[in-house]
Amino acid sequence: MKSPMLEYAFFEGRIVPFAEAKISIGTHCVQYGTGAFAGVRGYLDADGETINIFRLPDHAARLLNSAKLLRAELPFDRDSVAATIVSLVEKNAPVGDVYIRPFVYKPAVQLTPRLRGIGDEFAIYMLSLGDYLDTSRGVKAIVSSWVRIPDNAIPSRGKLSGAYINSAFAKDEAEEKGADEAILLNTAGKVAEGSGCNLFIVRNGTLITTAITGDILEGITRRSFIQFAADEGIPTEQREIDRSELYIADEAFFCGTGVQVAPIGWVDGRPIGTTETGPITTHLRQLFFDVVRGRSSRYADYVTPVRRAVAAATR
Ligand code: PMP
Repeated sequence: MKSPMLEYAFFEGRIVPFAEAKISIGTHCVQYGTGAFAGVRGYLDADGETINIFRLPDHAARLLNSAKLLRAELPFDRDSVAATIVSLVEKNAPVGDVYIRPFVYKPAVQLTPRLRGIGDEFAIYMLSLGDYLDTSRGVKAIVSSWVRIPDNAIPSRGKLSGAYINSAFAKDEAEEKGADEAILLNTAGKVAEGSGCNLFIVRNGTLITTAITGDILEGITRRSFIQFAADEGIPTEQREIDRSELYIADEAFFCGTGVQVAPIGWVDGRPIGTTETGPITTHLRQLFFDVVRGRSSRYADYVTPVRRAVAAATR
C-alpha cells in the first residue's frame, strides 16, 4: 500500500523531506509523552482546486494552549503557527483531502520527567486521509471500563501526547468487544467523550453535549456544531450527561476532526433511536460538509482556502 504521508514536513525550523524529520529514541517526548499535537483537516473544495483548511486559527490557538500546559516556550504566536501550516500545505500541494499533524515537543535527550528548562520544538507533517470511521451507517459504541483522565491528573482539555494512552486503552477495548468506538466516563461517572472525538446526544429536539469542565478535549468540531445548532434555532445544552441518557437518546453522534460526524447506532448493544441517522444529526452533518467543501458561503471564516495553483508555484 502506498504511504499516505505527504512528501514534505516542517522540522527544526524549515521544510524538509518527511524522511529527514527524525528524532532520537532518547528524546524526552518519546520516553515521557511530553508533546502536544493538533489534528487539522484540509478538505478538497467542490472546485477541485482548493484545499479548505478547517478552522485553522482555532487549531493553532488550541495547540498553543496545549503547549502552555506543557510550559513550552516557543517563538510562535497563533498567526505564525497558522502561516507555517499554510506554507507546508502549499509545498505539498495535495490533490485530495489531507490531515495535518502539528506537534510541539520536548526534544532534549534528558532523563528527568519535568517540563521546565529543557527546550521545546515545533514540527508538522501531513498525510492523505479519507474517512477514519465508516460513517455511512450508525457506529457501534461501548461505554468503556477505562475512566477518562481527570483534569488534575493529566488535563484532557489539552491534546497532550502521553494522555492518548488513556484513549488507546479504551479504543482497544471497544474493538475487542466488536464495537467501533469507546465512550469514556469521567471520574464523576458522567459521560466525557469518545476515545478520539466529542459526543452529542439529542433528546426531545435539544442537542446536548458534555460541558467543557467534564474532562473532555475542547473540541473544535464540537464548538462548530454548537454554533451551527444555535444558528439553526436548535436548542443546545452543555451539561453533565448520565450514562443512562445515552440509552434513551433519540439520536447520538460523535464528532471530531478525524471522525468528522459519526452517527451512533448502538451503545452497549442497545439501539439508539431507530439506529438510522436522525434528522438533527443529518441536518447538522449536511451543513458541516457544505461548509468544508465550499458549497455554502455561510461560515466562510471557518475555512482557510489554499489554492493548488499557488501551491504548485511554490514547489
Ligand atoms: N476528543 C478527543 C480525545 C480527541 O482526540 C479529539 C480529536 N482531536 C476530539 C475530542 C475532537 O476534537 P476536534 O474537533 O478539535 O478534532
